[in-house]
Amino acid sequence: MGYRCRKCSGDSVINMRQHRLALCEDHFIEWVQKHAAEFIRKHRMLEPEDRVLVAVSGGKDSLSLWSILLDLGYQADGIYIDLGIDRDRDESGYSKRSLQYAVEFAQSVSPRAKLHVLDIKAVYGRSVTEIARGGMGAKRKYCSACGLVKRHELNRMTRELGYAVLATGHNLDDEAAVLMGNSLNWEVEYMARQALVLPASSTGLVKKVKPLARFYEREMAAYAIVRGIPYIMEECPFSEGATSLGYKEVLNSMERKSSGTKLKFYFEFLKAKKKGLLPNYVPPELRLCEKCGEPTGSTGLCAFCRLIERPARPVGVDTLE
Ligand code: AMP
Ligand code: ZN
Ligand code: ZN
Repeated sequence: MGYRCRKCSGDSVINMRQHRLALCEDHFIEWVQKHAAEFIRKHRMLEPEDRVLVAVSGGKDSLSLWSILLDLGYQADGIYIDLGIDRDRDESGYSKRSLQYAVEFAQSVSPRAKLHVLDIKAVYGRSVTEIARGGMGAKRKYCSACGLVKRHELNRMTRELGYAVLATGHNLDDEAAVLMGNSLNWEVEYMARQALVLPASSTGLVKKVKPLARFYEREMAAYAIVRGIPYIMEECPFSEGATSLGYKEVLNSMERKSSGTKLKFYFEFLKAKKKGLLPNYVPPELRLCEKCGEPTGSTGLCAFCRLIERPARPVGVDTLE
């Protein structure tokens, strides 16, 4: 593209307008790793001796994250939740295709790191698609069921497998889109909870961190490519038309007009929060679910157990708008 690497004047592989920085392959890799390490340290995400569990989806962000953490010397294993999405429409299915990328990466780093795979259908008898069908409502119910299942199972597995921290691949575009949704709806309580680090609780919530939240989605795609990490490019079939994708589009169009918009939006928010300009997050009082023992704000069964206990409706009557 004609840009030269700022460090060595070699051919650049990426020009990051928001940082006024073009870099060649080697210097880009070095830049990502250095900034990830600083970000992790600055926000006290991980201690050098922590055993980390990386939630991997088979996408560019979580696989890059796993690779970066291993390169930085962390003891990091992966976990893939097989949600069983798409199985009844297409034999290989979106979830199985994503799993293959996670497995392929795991094989490339074996035996240094291992991949745990949790198959929802094998454990609970139904895939997330089938679980979501038990309820009423539109297509969005798949996304909320999927989010709930992932949160519950990732927390449970991190604790049961004895890891100190759960790391997810949320990037800056993801975080800015969530922030935009929360801002448009004046969800100040959600904003208070939107954090880079969620601490562990005595009731069994594990510590959760987002080490990639300072990187643009585009930077992570470039990183996966230059590191030669194959990843799933298709989006989840249920994400089509999701509100968060609309917010991402708006933010990208603002970014095109004024580079650095996303970075500023999100980082000024974090600063405002630090200054106390937003209400403090008060964690709700948690009890343990009567059935699964996971922490929950409700009495009796947790939201996950209520969801999976719902009887499934026959496939034929389901409508996908
Ligand atoms: P998403 O909610 O799909 O935007 O994903 C956000 C993060 O959640 C990813 O970067 C992963 O760290 C994690 N994640 C998403 N899907 C899965 C999955 N099926 N199994 C494990 N982790 C996942
Ligand atoms: Zn260079
Ligand atoms: Zn439960």
